[in-house]
Amino acid sequence: MLRLEGRPVPVVGRARMYVCGITPYDTTHLGHAATFVWGDVAARVLRHAGVDVEVCRNVTDVDDVLDAAAARAGSRFDSFAAVQQFRFDRDMAALGVRRPTHEPRAHNFVPQVEALAAALLDAGAAYERGGTVWFRGAEVTSWSGLDATTARALAREFGEDLEDGRDHWADVAVWRAAGPGAGTTEPAWPSPWGDGRPGWHAECAAMALTTFGPALDLHVGGADLRYPHHAYEAAMAQAVTGCDRSPGPGCTSVSCRWAGRRWPSRPATSCSWATSSSGTHRRCCGCC
Ligand SMILES: [Zn+2]
Repeated sequence: MLRLEGRPVPVVGRARMYVCGITPYDTTHLGHAATFVWGDVAARVLRHAGVDVEVCRNVTDVDDVLDAAAARAGSRFDSFAAVQQFRFDRDMAALGVRRPTHEPRAHNFVPQVEALAAALLDAGAAYERGGTVWFRGAEVTSWSGLDATTARALAREFGEDLEDGRDHWADVAVWRAAGPGAGTTEPAWPSPWGDGRPGWHAECAAMALTTFGPALDLHVGGADLRYPHHAYEAAMAQAVTGCDRSPGPGCTSVSCRWAGRRWPSRPATSCSWATSSSGTHRRCCGCC
């Protein structure tokens, strides 16, 4: 059995690997290269073991850092990102990294982020304030094994303004209301909460849910993104699906709250009813 950091990875037959991809705001550096080479090697090892591997590696082409870089270059965010991505693809080819099976770009997944925001609001896991939909993140820090001081410092490092009106400092934007630069230095789309743009963690959660449904076998990304990015991606997906963050044999906390919603391109299938300690739930989608 494949083991990672000493822990068994129960992969049989098929493996869904989600790789947190680049934000195309600058030239790829060696840290990116290490992450994507590692992911490609993991996929090759699994394929060698007879596993059918599907790799989804996203492109985060809606992001404040990218908007700022594009503005400095006097370019639109999407054309600036396309140039950077061309360079990235060239670098990956030079390193022998295979192209992923799926390569979703965040700007094509705005409706899916809106659906995610609506599902989180329905589940009571988010609230709307002034056109921003905030995900309730108070528990994410402890799930991640961090103390509050470390978590706050990391959140600030990634550009979070923790005193901007959110209920709790650990809450993060699923959907962010458009600022004064909307339409010029930053992109904006209409939504039920007014014009705005997707939040970073929500983009990956929506792209992963849309591509693979509510569960992954392997999540790959830079170690520096473990918190907050990976932690919040997983927490948002868990909040809408009810799937446990560590699914495996014996997982019973599957309610798949979004199963009744029309998810844009990946409807839930093969659901059944199951009883767990917290009641009768709809168990579905191969979470366990
Ligand atoms: Zn990600």
